[in-house]
Amino acid sequence: MPASYERAIVWLRRDLRLDDNAALAAAAAGSRSVLPVVVLDDDILASPSIGAPLVTAFLAAVASVRDSVRAMGGDLAILRGRPSDVIPAFAHRAGVQAVYYGIDYEPSARTRDREVSAALHRDGIHTHACLDHVYFGSDEVQRVDGSPFCIFSAYRRAWRERARRERRPPIASRAALRGKLQAPSGNADTGAMPRPDELGFSSFALPDAISEAAAARRLAAFASPAGAISDYARTRNLPAVDGTSRLSTHLRLGTLGIRTCVEAARRLRPHISAAARASVDAWVDELIWRDFYQMILDRFPHVAEGPFIPAMSRIRWRRSPEDFSAWCRGLTGYPLVDAAMRQLNTTGWMHNRLRMLVASFLSKDLLLDWRLGERYFETHLADADLAANNGGWQWCASTGTDPVPYFRIFNPIRQSETFDPEGAFIRRMLPELAAVPAPYIHAPWTMPPHVAAASRCRPGRDYPLPIVDHAAARGRALEAYRSARAFPGGDEAAAQGPRGRSV
Ligand SMILES: Cc1cc2nc3c(=O)[nH]c(=O)nc-3n(C[C@H](O)[C@H](O)[C@H](O)COP(=O)(O)OP(=O)(O)OC[C@H]3O[C@@H](n4cnc5c(N)ncnc54)[C@H](O)[C@@H]3O)c2cc1C
Repeated sequence: MPASYERAIVWLRRDLRLDDNAALAAAAAGSRSVLPVVVLDDDILASPSIGAPLVTAFLAAVASVRDSVRAMGGDLAILRGRPSDVIPAFAHRAGVQAVYYGIDYEPSARTRDREVSAALHRDGIHTHACLDHVYFGSDEVQRVDGSPFCIFSAYRRAWRERARRERRPPIASRAALRGKLQAPSGNADTGAMPRPDELGFSSFALPDAISEAAAARRLAAFASPAGAISDYARTRNLPAVDGTSRLSTHLRLGTLGIRTCVEAARRLRPHISAAARASVDAWVDELIWRDFYQMILDRFPHVAEGPFIPAMSRIRWRRSPEDFSAWCRGLTGYPLVDAAMRQLNTTGWMHNRLRMLVASFLSKDLLLDWRLGERYFETHLADADLAANNGGWQWCASTGTDPVPYFRIFNPIRQSETFDPEGAFIRRMLPELAAVPAPYIHAPWTMPPHVAAASRCRPGRDYPLPIVDHAAARGRALEAYRSARAFPGGDEAAAQGPRGRSV
């Protein structure tokens, strides 16, 4: 296809990479030269739902994509301000005819993109929104009548069916960009990268490098015949084991493309055993969950504010700043819950099994509003993503689409015995319990005094006693959920999102 524009901007947001990038590929095909740009968005940076781990990861990803662009003879413009001001102004300075970007389903991003597009259109500049962040768009996997799936298993079936018919291989955007990347004229837009503290965030030491190259290395190691993917079905629930891909921050920021992930799994299948294939399929299911929650956010944007199931807004949550603080700091007295929260606080990442456990503990054992936990995760996860985070929290709190039934309440001791039987993970995260023998590691308050003395850990002094009794808390939660469901309409009342039909 001949290029129809002389010059175009690609506004990189959730797609901070050169390979498998839909907006870059479309711009390279449609324009003689391409100017990539990133915006340090004042509205996002001022938002209370943004935290140091995500900002640190974002800046690392921006720095790495800038290096890649420079290596190909161009440069990355880094703008600061409101996108609806700085993108049109930059487009003018650069004399471009079009702006390309990847679609973002977050409600605030939708509003922002409409504003930016309107401003550009007023100036006669074209915009092109490209599907990139998900494998299938929110209206590409749906019921025959066009309504969204709200049950994951039905969505997964339809997703897999469509993927069988319609393979979406990684897009060769890096090759397409050869000779096309430009630097903005003058160097006003390509100054030094700010540090997190210059943007008002404390510095956070991320455990892993965030770059396109680091993501590719991680994927290659994970999704190889000898990689952890082959045993994923068994090890994915064991927090002491490095059994999951750890690619969530890369997928969040787009240092890795979703098509590349699906393709890596597909390529592996013919070369591995049937058991390993089942593991690969289990991993792809997680990628489908990711698409599912993105779709839910787009089709039911009200979930960003409250429960998917309207009746669940009637739950009478407790108010206890003390309990919430103990949960945040990893001081509940339940070792696996506390180890999980310390993992989050120190690394900016938490194992999925533990995300489920601590979310259940907050919303059910402590009967605190799940939105408190959702917000805490948002500001402490490097992979913080509204769709996945909200979906995960609403699933655990039994307020969401296809959630865990409200009467299934995780037992924090049994979860600990099952998924960290020897306490290896607990000991790693909670040094005060390092010497507690395995039979007591899941419930240290049951240690006889002589064992506590030998372990140099006296419960109540060196490690908290449980802030809540699980059996009693379970009864309290069941009562609260039953009362909410007893209101007229109950939870059978269909969720009616502004963009969704009844379900
Ligand atoms: C309460 C709660 C909050 C969560 N918050 C987030 C969040 O803010 N950001 C985020 O990326 N994930 C979130 N998840 C999902 C999941 O816990 C993480 O994606 C996963 O732990 C990341 O580790 P990994 O990359 O090793 O995952 P893997 O097991 O290797 O999975 C591969 C990829 O699939 C996606 N994925 C996996 N599980 C899910 C899921 N349940 N929902 C949506 N996508 C999934 C992720 O992109 C992940 O990188 C949340 C889950 C819960 C229960």
